[in-house]
Amino acid sequence: MRFISTRGNCTPAGASIAIRAGMAPNGGLFVPEHLPRLPSETMDPSLPFAQRAALILRPFFEEDPSADSLPEICLRALSFPVPLRMRSKAQAVLELFHGPTLAFKDIGARFLAEFLDTVERGNDRPLTILVATSGDTGGAVAAAFFGKSSARVRVFFPKDGVSARQRAQLTGWGGNVEAYAVRGSFDDCQRLVKHAFTIPGFSQDARLTSANSINLGRLLPQATYYVDAAVRFKAATGTDPVVIVPTGNVGNVTAAFWAREMGAPIARIVLAVNANRVIPDFLESGSWEARPSIMTLANAMDVGNPSNLERLRHLYPDFPRFKREIAAHSVSDQEIRETIRTCFEESGEVLCPHTAVGECVRRSHYAGTPAFIVATAHPAKFETIVEPLIGRPVEIPEPLAQILARECHEQELDPSPNAVPWAKIAS
Ligand SMILES: *Cc1c(COP(=O)(O)O)cnc(C)c1O
Repeated sequence: MRFISTRGNCTPAGASIAIRAGMAPNGGLFVPEHLPRLPSETMDPSLPFAQRAALILRPFFEEDPSADSLPEICLRALSFPVPLRMRSKAQAVLELFHGPTLAFKDIGARFLAEFLDTVERGNDRPLTILVATSGDTGGAVAAAFFGKSSARVRVFFPKDGVSARQRAQLTGWGGNVEAYAVRGSFDDCQRLVKHAFTIPGFSQDARLTSANSINLGRLLPQATYYVDAAVRFKAATGTDPVVIVPTGNVGNVTAAFWAREMGAPIARIVLAVNANRVIPDFLESGSWEARPSIMTLANAMDVGNPSNLERLRHLYPDFPRFKREIAAHSVSDQEIRETIRTCFEESGEVLCPHTAVGECVRRSHYAGTPAFIVATAHPAKFETIVEPLIGRPVEIPEPLAQILARECHEQELDPSPNAVPWAKIAS
């Protein structure tokens, strides 16, 4: 399998090259040249997740130097449960928050880390992974690469822009992971990372790689849990589910569309967005208009110009088709609060604010339809929002308790690229 750019005009690349590069050379995003049909073995409901994942991903890595290592990479990366919890005969929750940092981003980050660690084995100079984060991404990438000799991770986060628990997940590592508290915004952090790639010779010398959500190595493994959950949903209910995905930068939901195009038994995919409603508005008007992001309670979805939309538009280039395939609904902060409160009162189930966006869309638009929502994070990560609404503490899962107990290390940085000691950072 080769990967091409959403913007065309670049030499197709194999998996290792596309993943190591992060972005296609012409500024586009890598997408598979075609989406292979799922092998029939992947439809066996009894397959364990990591084995199903390896079978699903095999065609994407065929002819790549990593091909033989793929089953091993999947076993190591996908080593925690990804349960589809049935709430009733025709309704379920896909829980993606049982990894080390309690959000779905652990899955992509751990696959990327195991993959790079495998293909880089024997290289005596480590990669330098730069990550700008508004919260969840940096923690997942730090946790995934912590202790790996093939790479060092440098995380840039806005000094006053992350919660106490997110900060612990960024700064509690040490070793090959360093965290930089930037005196500025998330956009400043992103600018610093982009700048590093433009310093002459630096990118090669430091072996820079980016681990942001446009990296194919994070996206491809995400397709596997949609296949897994849809197969199990179908086995349990006899029907293809509607899949409702809390969406921000459109990475997670793009993986769902790829899974469906490959033949996963999914009836329809629905984007659940917060008050950042650029996608529902695009579906309605047909003309694309990016906007500055608005802050909401579901802050990991506060995106006004979603990067991975380019991949979805590449998948369905013709607008009438795009509109037929894609449904999107927006949810307000008030609705997020009501959904968290009602869900808890009705069944004792505690949702994180992002998952509540999905649940609110399900209740408003798909109440009588066989469906599962995707639970993207554990509520304990967002306790300052959730606890006042349910009137009791949220239990702290073990991986979070462990990182909260560690000592924090961070260094402050000014947001000006020229004030950053780049050489020191990458050594
Ligand atoms: C990142 C994130 C999202 C949004 O996922 P995208 O792939 O950016 O659409 C939703 N929920 C949580 C908890 C996240 O961390």
